[in-house]
Amino acid sequence: MVQRVLIVEDEDVIRMSLSENLALEGYKVTSVEDGEKAITAFKDNGADLVVLDLMLPKLDGLEVLKQIKALDMTVPVIILTARSDEVDKVVGLEIGADDYLTKPFGMRELFARVKALLRRTQTLIEVGQTANPNAANNDVVAVLEQIQLGDVRVDFKTYRAFKSDKELEMSVKEFELLRYLVNRPDIPVARNDLLDEVWGYNSYPTTRTVDNFIARLRQKIEDTPDKPRYIITVHGIGYKFVP
Ligand code: CA
Repeated sequence: MVQRVLIVEDEDVIRMSLSENLALEGYKVTSVEDGEKAITAFKDNGADLVVLDLMLPKLDGLEVLKQIKALDMTVPVIILTARSDEVDKVVGLEIGADDYLTKPFGMRELFARVKALLRRTQTLIEVGQTANPNAANNDVVAVLEQIQLGDVRVDFKTYRAFKSDKELEMSVKEFELLRYLVNRPDIPVARNDLLDEVWGYNSYPTTRTVDNFIARLRQKIEDTPDKPRYIITVHGIGYKFVP
């Protein structure tokens, strides 16, 4: 499923750069340069996500945000703003934006946020369905909520894990890392993809961090962490989960 992104930005350079880069990432992109066109485009075509500049001609970003959310409350909106003091105003609103970026920002940061928001929406839609291995390589994955690995039971919904009946101490990142791999059975996942998907844009850890987390995860869920049964190293790439 191709996801549609609507870009609303009056600065030509930024708008064109955003359109080009998001299209290269595989999104279907529509871009407009003022607030009125944004509303028309959203009414006509809808969108799975909106990237919205705040200072716009004709209709300002806040008004566009309000109208778009009135049309579709669930559509995620990322606000772009040149001034960090505008951020409080946006985030504090009842019809709040889902995320924001202060200009100037990097494309990598934007991609991470777009992905995270689309995944969040998708998760809400698909909660309760069982994991579909055929969908495993897409960003759109069904969410597996619980898994039994030998005598270890992991519940991704409550973030609790038990070995036999003893509760395991696992960090949220460890749960998220495991969940990401578990939802892509038998598919090798690159360390860099794990960094993007599990750590996201807030921090800048190294691929070494991934290795450390994997080692800790193995200590907890594997019977023999030195010879893992579930989380396998794929040399030159990263890791994969073997059910
Ligand atoms: Ca502007």
